[in-house]
Amino acid sequence: MGSRLSEMKRQLQKGMIIFNEGDKGDSAYIIDKGRVEIYVGENDEMTPIAVLGVGEIFGEMAIIDGSDRSASAIALEDCELTVVSQDQLAERIRQSDPIVRLLIIMLIKRNRENIKKNYPNSKAAGNVTPISKHQNYSSHFEESNADAIERIKFEKELENALDCDDFQLYYQPVIDMISMRIAGFEALIRWNSPSRGMVRPDIFMGIAEETSLIIPIGQWVIQRACKDRASIMNKLNQSTILNDEFFMAVNVSGRQLQDPDLFQILDESTRKYNVPANKFKLELTERVFMNGNYIEEWIKECRSKGYQIALDDFGTGYSSLGYISKFSVDNLKIDRSFILKMHDDHKTLIIIQAILQIAKGLNIPVIAEGIETEADAIALKNLDCRLAQGYLFAKPMPLNDLLEFLEQDKIKTDVA
Ligand code: C2E
Ligand code: CA
Ligand code: CA
Repeated sequence: MGSRLSEMKRQLQKGMIIFNEGDKGDSAYIIDKGRVEIYVGENDEMTPIAVLGVGEIFGEMAIIDGSDRSASAIALEDCELTVVSQDQLAERIRQSDPIVRLLIIMLIKRNRENIKKNYPNSKAAGNVTPISKHQNYSSHFEESNADAIERIKFEKELENALDCDDFQLYYQPVIDMISMRIAGFEALIRWNSPSRGMVRPDIFMGIAEETSLIIPIGQWVIQRACKDRASIMNKLNQSTILNDEFFMAVNVSGRQLQDPDLFQILDESTRKYNVPANKFKLELTERVFMNGNYIEEWIKECRSKGYQIALDDFGTGYSSLGYISKFSVDNLKIDRSFILKMHDDHKTLIIIQAILQIAKGLNIPVIAEGIETEADAIALKNLDCRLAQGYLFAKPMPLNDLLEFLEQDKIKTDVA
């Protein structure tokens, strides 16, 4: 214990050198007591750079970028220092956001260049190892620099996508397997990027959430889905697979629940395009339900306005059953991962059966997601699941293709 403590702390008497410029750096220091001067040069040539006091950190540059010390440090008074090891600091930097990491490296680089320019006699000045050459850090940082730059570009492009109208909504029909008519549609966003092609939401929605771009994107989705529902309504007379009861569903991410304008946008858009509130559905995943506090209020407000709520990806999160007893929802959507395993894994089949039974008892219609084969459809129908969505019936498609699909007036009907 005693030796560990002495490794973590250093006591220095006034006038003691802590490190010299040109040394290899193995630790940084936090000043707990006393003052430290940072300087370059020796004897007559000595030039002070800074005087640091309690709570400040120094010696960090060399251990971050692996170059030699670019300045010396001396105790101006009796000092107590906490030693920060290279591992401690490196680990934290490694865990930080790649852009923060890039900033740190660039700031240090600039700082070193300034020292070199302002103090040309400094021993270490001419000895700056380019970051890319340092053995411990080079590959890691080069890689993360590239990541960070790519990430910034990606964010910028995503931001522009809204202004340039590069987002698009695809619609996937939800089928009532008893009547073989369309019960409704789920709107799924795509990014039609000029440089990247058609980008799926799994690639960009996470970043949209982290950067809060999800707020304007989510508003756009609601507005566009309402507008397109009106276009779909115009096809009613030409399509027997559709009746005027159909719903339009959009996905809502957790971050959007904090959008103070969300309900106003919902109200305005549904009014403008004559969408009855009870035909507009908001799909929330279990992860969003776990967000605690405000979700309860949010759902209450949503329901009081008459909008419908579907619990998406049901079964993939924790205590799913807890949520359906606590919050009232209009649909459960069984996640595709269950459907995938249903035929080969008896336990999965039992779980699907149990979910369907509980939902029936609670009077909540279930939508099965990811129905790809007739065997899937038949199995679910046999389990009394009426609503289904999947490639077997229709893939998500842009509005124009959907309108054509409705004109063709045919859903794959050879499901027993
Ligand atoms: P999700 O809400 O679970 O949407 C269903 C996903 O399953 C969609 O992927 C759909 O294209 C895909 N899918 C449907 N049927 C089948 C099938 O039979 N087989 C297979 N393999 N896949 C099928 P997509 O469109 O790539 O969307 C992925 C996720 O991105 C969505 O999962 C949803 O969580 C999110 N997302 C999509 N659009 C939006 C949006 O406008 N807002 C928000 N917040 N999230 C969105
Ligand atoms: Ca969904
Ligand atoms: Ca889902």
